[in-house]
Amino acid sequence: MSEHSPRLEQPYPYQRVELVEPDWTRLPGWRDVTKAEWESAQWQRAHCVKNVKQLRAVFGDLVDDRFYVDLERDQAERATMSMLIPPQMVNTMVPQAVPAGPGSLTEALYADPVRRYMTPVFSDRRTDWPSHPHATRDSLHEHDMWVAEGLTHRYPTKVLAEILPTCPQYCGHCTRMDLVGNSTPVIDKLKFELKPADRLAGHIEYLRRTPSVRDVVVSGGDVANMPWARVEDYVSQLLDIDNIRDIRLATKALMGLPQHWLQDDIRAGMERLATKARSRGAQIAIHTHVNHANSVTPLVARATGVMLETGIRDVRNQGVLMEGVNAEPHTLLDLCFHLLDGAGIMPYYFYMCDMIPFSEHWRVSVAKAQHLQHHIMGYLPGFATPRIVCDVPFVGKRWVHQLAEYDRERGISYWTKNYRTSIESDDADALTRLYEYYDPIHTLPAEGRAWWTEHAGGVHGEAERRAAVSRAAAEQQKLLTIT
Ligand code: SF4
Repeated sequence: MSEHSPRLEQPYPYQRVELVEPDWTRLPGWRDVTKAEWESAQWQRAHCVKNVKQLRAVFGDLVDDRFYVDLERDQAERATMSMLIPPQMVNTMVPQAVPAGPGSLTEALYADPVRRYMTPVFSDRRTDWPSHPHATRDSLHEHDMWVAEGLTHRYPTKVLAEILPTCPQYCGHCTRMDLVGNSTPVIDKLKFELKPADRLAGHIEYLRRTPSVRDVVVSGGDVANMPWARVEDYVSQLLDIDNIRDIRLATKALMGLPQHWLQDDIRAGMERLATKARSRGAQIAIHTHVNHANSVTPLVARATGVMLETGIRDVRNQGVLMEGVNAEPHTLLDLCFHLLDGAGIMPYYFYMCDMIPFSEHWRVSVAKAQHLQHHIMGYLPGFATPRIVCDVPFVGKRWVHQLAEYDRERGISYWTKNYRTSIESDDADALTRLYEYYDPIHTLPAEGRAWWTEHAGGVHGEAERRAAVSRAAAEQQKLLTIT
């Protein structure tokens, strides 16, 4: 470099972050809420925002009516999840000081990344292709792979245990929208049939007789919504099974309701579980779900610190990549540094948003996901550089650069796999077949969009046929398991 050459900046200017808890008293509805109330899990649960009227009570006239009308229309015509947002999360929307005057927050709230996925409005959604023709309610076919109620056996050595169908917060893009939460005008939810105790006993029974499984993701829903005694008993029973070596507790509430994890009885219970795990040489970790740096506040850091002090192995983040929320390199890196430097949470995965109904405005193409992965490399330590993964139906998680073929014009990527799911034990072609994943149609070139306009009609039939075949296979597998 000559002495006259300009000094070129790095594309991402790293800066050490200082976490901030936005002042909740800036919002009209919480002007008189005390610190003790705010830090109480009971207060947070009792004051969750469950409908448009309650959201209006929080923001008052700082937000125009047109926003609430937009939200009401979405609830009636598009929403796959009902509204449930703890104050802690609402407080991370438009976190800046409030400019005075009626309607002054409207545009900022429309543009806010946390609002865009927790409180989607009708005008956010695509009108050309609101859903992909291949979108399905259970897009990952988890239900089809149940080996006991709520227990999905997809990978050879791992299971996903959906222990309950509720969360302290409902995310607009939830991939388990088929099962999780209350029914909406658009989606009638699947219901568990067994009582919770019988459902959990079924899991334990399956895992005792299936030594090939070593790893259990305890999820839902969100484990923070199950009475602690039942969670502790379930995890403790898992730890009694010799082959179980890894247990991951899935809780977005570590961010959405950190007050839950700060309670003394929960902390003490986690300590008992961590001690038992260590004595057996097994590992417990918490997996949380944070999508934007604004959500990482000092309370989240405090709850994470308390959990790590109980002796669990780690707290990791699995975010979801969404347009309008975080699908930019700097936004992703800001989030990762807030997690890692600010809260001690390990950035782990970013999932591409799944192909559920009405998710097209959030989804990005595989090509964009590859671009993002490229641009976040090199800034974080290797062990904390998250992988962006595509959860390919009937396959599972694949790194976004792992595809076998890619038709960029029609937005169809083709993927392979190296294991059989629980419904493919007699499928000779399972490991040689190409499995498809679909980019959002509005991101395609004109020729690709025209192709889908011409062919989308027949696609529904094919998607339904495959789902029916997989359901029949799952039923057969369950019968075989029972007999
Ligand atoms: S916390 Fe997880 S399971 Fe619950 S609604 Fe959000 S994405 Fe779905």
